[in-house]
Amino acid sequence: MWGVMDESADEPLSKLWGLFQSGDDLSWQHKALCSQTDPEAFFPEKGGSTRDAKRVCAQCEVREQCLDWAIEHDERFGIWGGMSERERRRYKKERRGRA
Ligand code: SF4
Repeated sequence: MWGVMDESADEPLSKLWGLFQSGDDLSWQHKALCSQTDPEAFFPEKGGSTRDAKRVCAQCEVREQCLDWAIEHDERFGIWGGMSERERRRYKKERRGRA
């Protein structure tokens, strides 16, 4: 979820700021569709709907890179690459099983 690069963003979004200083190649984030949308949709309250965020992700051309990044960095909150934290955990486990 790449619409959160504003240092003044509220928690937990501001916690993500440090991750952007990691030295990773994040050039793909400039194509992140979520940067043009409401970031709150990507961090719903517990039990809240993820539908709107996932709908945006489904249209995003960097979805694969985003998902890989979130899995690689063990991102625990929010929708990344069209998946919730639980879905990413399951996907990661399945991927490990295939390797
Ligand atoms: S896949 Fe979703 S969370 Fe990731 S950059 Fe695209 S819109 Fe944002």
